[in-house]
Amino acid sequence: MEFIDLRSDTVTKPTPEMREAMAEAEVGDDVYMDDPTVNKLQEKAAEMLGKEDSLFVPSGTMGNLLALLVHCQRGDEVIVGDCSHVYLNEAGGMAALGGIYPHAIKNQIDGTLALDDIRPAIQSENVHHTITRLVCIENTQNVCGGVPLTVEYTRAVGKLAHGNHLLFHIDGARIFNAAAAQNVSVKELVEPADSVMFCLSKGLCSPVGSMLVGSKKFIARARHLRKMLGGGMRQVGVLAAAGLISLEKMSKRLGEDHARAKKLADGLRQVEGLVLDAGTPFTNMIYFDLADGARMNAFQVTEKMKERGILLDPDTDRRFRLVTHYWIDDAAVGKIVEAFVKVLN
Ligand SMILES: *Cc1c(COP(=O)(O)O)cnc(C)c1O
Repeated sequence: MEFIDLRSDTVTKPTPEMREAMAEAEVGDDVYMDDPTVNKLQEKAAEMLGKEDSLFVPSGTMGNLLALLVHCQRGDEVIVGDCSHVYLNEAGGMAALGGIYPHAIKNQIDGTLALDDIRPAIQSENVHHTITRLVCIENTQNVCGGVPLTVEYTRAVGKLAHGNHLLFHIDGARIFNAAAAQNVSVKELVEPADSVMFCLSKGLCSPVGSMLVGSKKFIARARHLRKMLGGGMRQVGVLAAAGLISLEKMSKRLGEDHARAKKLADGLRQVEGLVLDAGTPFTNMIYFDLADGARMNAFQVTEKMKERGILLDPDTDRRFRLVTHYWIDDAAVGKIVEAFVKVLN
């Protein structure tokens, strides 16, 4: 059975065009910086984000970790959101591998960190305190609903960080979704940041890989640390070839995923037994709860939906997150709504 897979946009398989480009990719040893396809991808990513240089990394998690390791010394502190991926979902890598201390402050409902929360979180110079080195925001903010943060907000965080001699990193795993949803360029969205990580392997449909972007000096150090972590890859142009299609083509079609998420949410709003978050979706993620008094929990609903060919990943025993992507078409939207109606009634 061909499943309709809504668990994440990480499930996206490469397109036929990607498979072809991968088969024909010119390659070399990337540890010697000899892979022409990787070099092209890195140039393109840096250009699109308006930074000096970039580095192809195996995963978003490694990209964020490298940024933290380059920016921070052992014992330094980083200000992060309490709902952020880097705080919740990266296996504590910053602490375990970098000796970096996460200072988590509340993510607001709109996905931001309030400037009035960031300011007092910056440690004053005192022998008792850690040294605050970095502020990290996430755009789109996944747990807060896939909500995009604005250019104005990002500028304000940059100004606050730099005004206090802090560095500024953006976990932009889905920064192209954030840009598409607001009709702005990615370049504008990341302009104030010292470094940015974004994923090729989510909505952009590549099979593997993320990009870390920043100054030449930052990337040179990140390249050294990537080797240390075992992330120096060889003829990896076979993957970069897909990444180039992600940047050139797939980054321009994310609006379709957002439109389908809206259409799917509108359909689900009509289903008795489901309660959707008001005003959502913002991008490609739809969050909703089972209504009070539901006969089944989210795990049981997930089982029943699977029998109907639809894969879900429940967030809790009451809550779901559905993600639209390249392989979810209009026909799938209708089938998903119909399956929920059948399963719940
Ligand atoms: C997926 C994700 C990452 C990490 O990417 P992986 O490639 O899965 O390691 C980091 N941040 C956010 C917000 C993500 O959604």
